[in-house]
Amino acid sequence: MEKKYDVIIVGSGVGGLFCALSLPEEKNILVISKDALEGCDSFLAQGGICMLRDEADYDAYFEDTMRAGHYENRKESVEIMIRSSQDIIKDLESYGVEFEKKNGEFVFTKEGAHSNNRILFHEDITGKEITSKLLQRAQERKNITLMAHTTMVDWVCKDNVCYGIVVADMDGKTTAIQGDVTVLACGGLGGVYPHSTNYRHISGDALALAMYHNVRLENCDYVQIHPTTLFSNQGGRSFLISESVRGEGAVLRDKDGNRFTDELQPRDVVSKAIFNQMEKDGTDHVWLDFSPIPKDEILNHFPNIYARCKQAGYDPLESWVPVVPAQHYFMGGIYVDKNSKTTMEQLYAVGETSCNGVHGRNRLASNSLLESLVFAKRAAQDIVNTKSFKIAEDFDNLVNMDGYEDLPSIMENYHAMVVGEIKKEENLRAKKEAM
Ligand SMILES: Cc1cc2nc3c(=O)[nH]c(=O)nc-3n(C[C@H](O)[C@H](O)[C@H](O)COP(=O)(O)OP(=O)(O)OC[C@H]3O[C@@H](n4cnc5c(N)ncnc54)[C@H](O)[C@@H]3O)c2cc1C
Repeated sequence: MEKKYDVIIVGSGVGGLFCALSLPEEKNILVISKDALEGCDSFLAQGGICMLRDEADYDAYFEDTMRAGHYENRKESVEIMIRSSQDIIKDLESYGVEFEKKNGEFVFTKEGAHSNNRILFHEDITGKEITSKLLQRAQERKNITLMAHTTMVDWVCKDNVCYGIVVADMDGKTTAIQGDVTVLACGGLGGVYPHSTNYRHISGDALALAMYHNVRLENCDYVQIHPTTLFSNQGGRSFLISESVRGEGAVLRDKDGNRFTDELQPRDVVSKAIFNQMEKDGTDHVWLDFSPIPKDEILNHFPNIYARCKQAGYDPLESWVPVVPAQHYFMGGIYVDKNSKTTMEQLYAVGETSCNGVHGRNRLASNSLLESLVFAKRAAQDIVNTKSFKIAEDFDNLVNMDGYEDLPSIMENYHAMVVGEIKKEENLRAKKEAM
């Protein structure tokens, strides 16, 4: 492994890969992933990615994003995201990403809390389509080194400047790697929850390091619970049943088959309605009824969801499917400005790890792939525009490599720190709101 790169990117999801591809080919870039390169939530995204259709939809798209976020969103970030969306989709198409089209025109779908159809999709595997194409393009680039099963365990920093990271390989062997710039694209924190749609290894490591090195965090208690995951007693990652299923007409039913809520309200509202209904009925799930959706639409738009439900013993064409809410998305994170800069010099954060304020208190469906891509590109542009970087002449002395012998305990401690921070923020907010 080389020990010096221009840019180190931690994470091989859409945020990390798009940032790498948006940097010039003269930059020597390292992208690492804790798991396989494909082991990221970006591959799991089903529903789609939002795009501003035309000027006439701007105000409604802005309002939908703000309303879902309880008007706590940073308006400037929302505006940047929406205004950049058409260019981002053009970039994706130039990398070979295909979206559903009819007669050469985009087909748009709708999800909960959207007042208009503005979501592009590729069957129900939009994330896989986007991320696999970005990964292929990154693998073709000679200036990008991709390393799987390589875990960031610390940052090498001094006086609030980041000079690189410490990584561990699968055998626990640690190495310090120097970088002019480090970009955190480590995804969310679902791994610290018992029930989550996220990969188990995506567990907020970068947040713990931010706490440890005094980098500003924001809204760590803003955790989104997705209303509809396939109910199972078997443990492991919860399988998501995309919101676009409800967008296309599926309805929720209680134990007696009655509808109990408007299925197209924001996620937090629908999740709350489901939890209330489960408590009232004394059940551990409610039912999702696909029957209002035409059969062809179920088979063509949602082939993977259909197959997975069938595999679990529920044929959506014949019967209702049991669903339950689970942790899904993290709106808070490492505080960043509009160019994805953290409060530590030479350290950026993009994607779900970061908090640029786009989502406010609650994310609008299909805004997160877009947000990750928009702000990853802005990070790349900001890196390019930076004239010079501070270099640590004493890099090898900045970190004590003997301190990483008990890695499992270190990682366990990181996860406990993340859980503690969420709880602390929740309590503080509850106290404030009660005053
Ligand atoms: C089931 C599911 C469905 C979704 N559907 C949609 C959708 O339809 N539309 C939408 O917009 N969004 C959707 N989302 C959300 C969206 O997929 C994510 O928010 C987005 O992909 C996050 O991208 P990312 O690049 O920030 O992180 P990820 O894609 O999660 O990648 C994180 C990367 O960081 C690496 N990593 C983490 N910690 C370390 C470490 N310590 N060292 C090294 N590497 C590390 C991981 O290995 C991984 O490579 C969905 C999410 C899920 C889970």
